[in-house]
Amino acid sequence: MKVGFIGLGIMGRPMALNLVRAGFRLVVHNRSRQVVDALAAAGARGAGSPKEVAAASDVVITMLPDSPDVEQVVLGTDGLIDGIRFGTLLVDMSTINPLVSRKVGGAMAARGAAMLDAPVSGGEKGAIDGTLSIMVGGESRDVERARPLFDVMGRTVTHMGPLGSGGFTKLANQIIVAVNLSAIGEALVLGARSGVDPEKMIQALSGGMAASRCLELKGGKILSGDFEPGFKIDLHAKDLRLVRQTADALGVAIPTTALVEQYLTALRTRGKGGEDHSAIIRFFEDLAGIEVRNGSGGGY
Ligand code: NAP
Repeated sequence: MKVGFIGLGIMGRPMALNLVRAGFRLVVHNRSRQVVDALAAAGARGAGSPKEVAAASDVVITMLPDSPDVEQVVLGTDGLIDGIRFGTLLVDMSTINPLVSRKVGGAMAARGAAMLDAPVSGGEKGAIDGTLSIMVGGESRDVERARPLFDVMGRTVTHMGPLGSGGFTKLANQIIVAVNLSAIGEALVLGARSGVDPEKMIQALSGGMAASRCLELKGGKILSGDFEPGFKIDLHAKDLRLVRQTADALGVAIPTTALVEQYLTALRTRGKGGEDHSAIIRFFEDLAGIEVRNGSGGGY
């Protein structure tokens, strides 16, 4: 199977590397060139455009920031659609609007090609370790074609239903992660103000009902002030916008998520959009006038 990979950022790069290491022949493309050279050094072949990738591939994976990026790469000038052959499979693993997935899938189908939407959860660590949870929408036969690739990149592969249902599941995931990180931030600020050692607090909370993957993966980083992304606030804000748009379209109220989206907007306005989403704690620190990691909380 010849595999194309487009979008070699925080997630795409380690996912593509794992595929190369597993023995797949990879053709890769990215907007900025440097990372393509890095992948080429690991054994992949670089391509100058999405069209070129498609012409050389049976299956093409995309891992791009947002819906307009996927539309541009697939349908734009020198796009994938210009290079596909009958039977090419597009596997879009980006988090985008599921309704856009369906539109792009329709354009692919009109050319005799197929599409899966297969967004992931598990973060940069899951991408590096090949342990992502992959939520897939599309036809069963296409899921089976892509399964050898999914098995390299992920540990949990769930076929959710038709095209778009992977995306809807991922948006549900993003609600839970955003609200969880927000709760962790609020809780740690209250704890710090009371004078309790935040490290001990995380240790205790991790053993009970408040334990979570967010607390496990992000707790230590929050305490050390390491907000290198990970998952950028800008991208999580994009996901909550997608939640709001799809909830609007479906007539569902999402008051809790809408509130957290406002915290992210405030942080982006203050220039924090490029930081990891765990930096949401900064919002609560500003309100309380303390910094958890500097132990400036004082005591009650
Ligand atoms: P990222 O680091 O910003 O990477 C995006 C990559 O896409 C960059 O390398 C970018 O190139 C490239 N790109 C953008 N537009 C392009 C175009 N028109 N043609 C070719 N390449 C293009 O983002 P990420 O964190 O990897 O996230 C990717 C997707 O996965 C997003 O939808 C995100 O929501 C989702 N996701 C992320 C995480 C996470 O923890 N990071 C977890 C789960 C899901 P440049 O180098 O030029 O910018």
